[in-house]
Amino acid sequence: MTSGVETRRKRISSSPIEAAIVSATVPALDIDAVRADFPALAQEVHPGKPLVYLDSAATALKPQVVIDAITNVYAKECANVHRGVHALSQRATALYEGARDTVQRFIGAGSREEIIFTSGTTAALNLVAMTYGAVNLAPGDEVLVTELEHHSDIVSWQLQCERVGARLVVAPIEENGEVTAKAFASRLTRRTKIVAFAHVSNALGTVLPVAELTRLAHEVGAIVVVDGAQGVVHGSVDVRELDVDFYAFSGHKLYGPTGVGVLYGKRALLEAMPPWMGGGDMIDRVQFSGSTYNDLPYKFEAGTPNIAGVVGLGAALDYMRSLGMDAIAKHEATLLAHGTEVLERIEGLRLIGTADHKAGVLAFDLAGVHPTDLGTLLDAQGIAIRTGHHCAQPVMDRYGLTGTARASIGVYNTIGELDRLARGIEEARALFG
Ligand code: PMP
Repeated sequence: MTSGVETRRKRISSSPIEAAIVSATVPALDIDAVRADFPALAQEVHPGKPLVYLDSAATALKPQVVIDAITNVYAKECANVHRGVHALSQRATALYEGARDTVQRFIGAGSREEIIFTSGTTAALNLVAMTYGAVNLAPGDEVLVTELEHHSDIVSWQLQCERVGARLVVAPIEENGEVTAKAFASRLTRRTKIVAFAHVSNALGTVLPVAELTRLAHEVGAIVVVDGAQGVVHGSVDVRELDVDFYAFSGHKLYGPTGVGVLYGKRALLEAMPPWMGGGDMIDRVQFSGSTYNDLPYKFEAGTPNIAGVVGLGAALDYMRSLGMDAIAKHEATLLAHGTEVLERIEGLRLIGTADHKAGVLAFDLAGVHPTDLGTLLDAQGIAIRTGHHCAQPVMDRYGLTGTARASIGVYNTIGELDRLARGIEEARALFG
């Protein structure tokens, strides 16, 4: 007979984002070499306690190549981009624009003009809400989100809906954290103009069926905005294959720096959208009687950008590609399956988010132990997890919780670390009786 754990393991390993896992052709990561790339791992956060970093969904650690790329910009290529005739400015511009090409290839976008650099996912989602939303939403129109969204994919739409008199509609999730096509389709109407949903939930780990939901939304004429903050991290993404209209993500979740992110948008949509912020670089001609705007992508990049951040993001994507996206997916799926197995054995532990298709996240509630207490006890052992609502309060409401404990997985984690997590939780449980 197959145990619950075995069944779950099979289901996880048959999920699409981890499709390559079972394929024997995908090479295994040299995990010791990967770990040696991340200087932050070579430390004890408390005396005698080597760091076990299980908080990558909040922000991932940075490999030395990313740190070096950023340092190099400030040390040797320090100039503003686009406007300078001098050599340094041209070199900085080449690095900055080279990173745009890297991003384009990484997500399979059709052209570099479709890649807008922002300060992160939050800014990218707000950009779409405030520009596309401003000119395409009318009173009575609907914006459809799902119940598992991050606050940045809720509040940005709420703000714009309030401004224009549109309505925010919510597609419910199942008990296991899935968004079914049926539930999603039941909320689509002819008034739905925009749908916005996460590729992967940061609170539950659910991988949403992006292509299927996109097809359904397009059938009613809505455009699709995907919050890819946790999506691009765990496996390869091809925005053209998914046919999404917008895809947003942050550099810092994929081993790049903070303060930088990307909005991908289909060119025709971006071209029709008004600019968001006004300032340098986004203009063509400025007069007091009125101004005209620059071409894509610069129309949406007002002001001096985060040059070193963008270059660091490019280095992070190069690093991920050098490891191999399939190899990353395979490694993380093995960790997720093992983590699920060891956590499920702990008495009183309830996993929150048990969808068939999951990536990167093990969130749970431990009977009788507050998540903050658990997080503090684990920290004393050098184990970094996150506790709280994870910027997804409606998800917590859905499960009747104020917060969860969340261990999230990065490319540098190991089976041994998940075993240490499980032992740490057992110890906490024993302490609280
Ligand atoms: N969406 C999801 C699913 C996330 O996990 C996060 C970050 N926790 C965000 C959006 C916002 O990303 P950022 O804070 O980098 O803008």
